[in-house]
Amino acid sequence: MSLFKPLDVQKDPAEKVVPEGNAEHVHCLIIGSGPAGYTAAIYAARANLKPVLYEGLQPGGQLTTTTEVENFPGYPDGITGPQMMEDFKKQAQRFGTDIRFGMITSVDFSKRPFKVVADETHLIEADAVIIATGATAKYLGLESEKKYMGSGVSACATCDGFFYKGQDVAVVGGGDTACEEALYLAGLCRKVYMIVRKNYLRASKVMQQRVLNTPNIEVLFGHVTKEIVGDQTVNGVILTDDKGQEKRIDVQGFFVAIGHTPNSEIFKPWIETDETGYIITRPGSTKTNVEGVFACGDVQDKTFRQAVTAAGSGCMAAIEAERWLAEQK
Ligand code: NDP
Repeated sequence: MSLFKPLDVQKDPAEKVVPEGNAEHVHCLIIGSGPAGYTAAIYAARANLKPVLYEGLQPGGQLTTTTEVENFPGYPDGITGPQMMEDFKKQAQRFGTDIRFGMITSVDFSKRPFKVVADETHLIEADAVIIATGATAKYLGLESEKKYMGSGVSACATCDGFFYKGQDVAVVGGGDTACEEALYLAGLCRKVYMIVRKNYLRASKVMQQRVLNTPNIEVLFGHVTKEIVGDQTVNGVILTDDKGQEKRIDVQGFFVAIGHTPNSEIFKPWIETDETGYIITRPGSTKTNVEGVFACGDVQDKTFRQAVTAAGSGCMAAIEAERWLAEQK
């Protein structure tokens, strides 16, 4: 589910919801509080841009739903996702970022300063905007999936695959992400099952070939997940095939790879996105099609989606915003 409501472009959003003369002026507004948003805040605050950051519905972003993070450089013993995001936040606050609990509910990027509405009532006029609203992993919607989240269920093999070294796991999905996840896990795990609801993979031919040529990946075509089962942690999955037959596979890890939804809905009237909703930024840059609006992190990245790459692009966005603001003077 997107965190934001779509904007009715036929009307002026500021006129629609905000009392006249009640606008707050912000030099650099950052929307989102994952690794991209907080890194942008650290750099923007140290550059004296006096950033204001709106955290959104899930402060700390997707990492707050992960348990252990072991691949973020600088944490040799690993760290929990929530603790890492707390540290990001403290570092952003240390340099003076104004961090607010609240949601940006609509935007108007048609002219500068940009008009942005927080919590449907508070109008902000921003000189520059950094979008770092992330993406939301899609899940199957099973109760058991929720129950075992972080105890066997994950939506990120690169983040959590290591915990299943030498064990058996399943990946659900038949697209490029599922194939990538399965191939990554095949290098760590004893056996990887791919649960694919159709009788073919949707992934690119090259990925299909790689998967089909990997001896410890078994693709279960025409199967859907009925239930994830276990005790404290996952120990199996009940599947139904296209003839209605049920079977159980014994696995310790269940990876959902059925796609992500970028949280870009409210920006779409102004900001170019691709057909799946990811914000398009210029190659090697965080610049969007609107001058003064920058995008970083998973909302503009469907390939890497890592905390460290999100943080890197957050740094880029702040530097580009700073340079752009300096040019405006
Ligand atoms: P996709 O939408 O391409 O694939 C999603 C897969 O999940 C499909 O096989 C779909 O099945 C399946 N699925 C969806 N919902 C369910 C469900 N409820 N139950 C079971 N299966 C389900 O998503 P991806 O994340 O794989 O890719 C998104 C985009 O990113 C694509 O354009 C892809 O090419 C690109 N990408 C590129 C990469 C690269 O270039 N390295 C890496 C990763 C992604 P069905 O086919 O039946 O609809």
